[in-house]
Amino acid sequence: EHTLDTAFFIRWLTTAAQAVEREADRLTELDSAIGDADHGSNLQRGFRAVTAALAQEPPGSPGAVLALAGKRLISTVGGASGPLYGTLLRRTGKALGDAPEVSPAQLAEALRVGVAAVAQLGGAKAGDKTMLDALEPAVGALGASYATFAEAAGAAGDGALATVPLQARKGRASYLGERSIGHQDPGATSSALLITALADAAG
Ligand code: ADP
Ligand code: MG
Ligand code: MG
Repeated sequence: EHTLDTAFFIRWLTTAAQAVEREADRLTELDSAIGDADHGSNLQRGFRAVTAALAQEPPGSPGAVLALAGKRLISTVGGASGPLYGTLLRRTGKALGDAPEVSPAQLAEALRVGVAAVAQLGGAKAGDKTMLDALEPAVGALGASYATFAEAAGAAGDGALATVPLQARKGRASYLGERSIGHQDPGATSSALLITALADAAG
């Protein structure tokens, strides 16, 4: 009854791409305060490429959807967020293997592997004012039922808001030192969009 098939994963990423289109200006505005004003356009370019790739060569399994999307993000997004989001999706996809359908619990476990890979690649941890401040609470809330998808989206959104008073310790924003305080992290904000898209695709 409660399984997630290839079409679900395509719907998740398509929904995420729509959210990126809608929020691109805001993401770039957040990045103009503590970065180089390109986060929205970076992700717009990346998710347009993901959408095109999924249409051109539709993958045959959930794991293959995430692997293809991750590969496209790495190759099209110039900037820190491309390799990090690419790693998130590729490693999550790899953890899912080639099963044609997966359970919410299996997705939760695979996403925990993907988020751990992001932490390892970027050397960041929760509290450093990065995408991990949204992703870690999200995977902490994800469990075996669909209801936990909405909880994860809420936790990711709260995590993104909670980056405002933090001082950045990784990425471009860390160059600002204390001047990074008082601004919401762009990557945590886009991570909340990605997890909200997951909940939307399930609902
Ligand atoms: P760039 O900073 O190279 O222009 P983007 O603007 O696309 O790249 O992405 C910036 C976001 O990437 C930041 O808001 C932050 O959330 C995330 N980020 C940067 N460095 C790291 C890191 N080492 N670990 C985790 N996330 C990071
Ligand atoms: Mg930037
Ligand atoms: Mg940049």
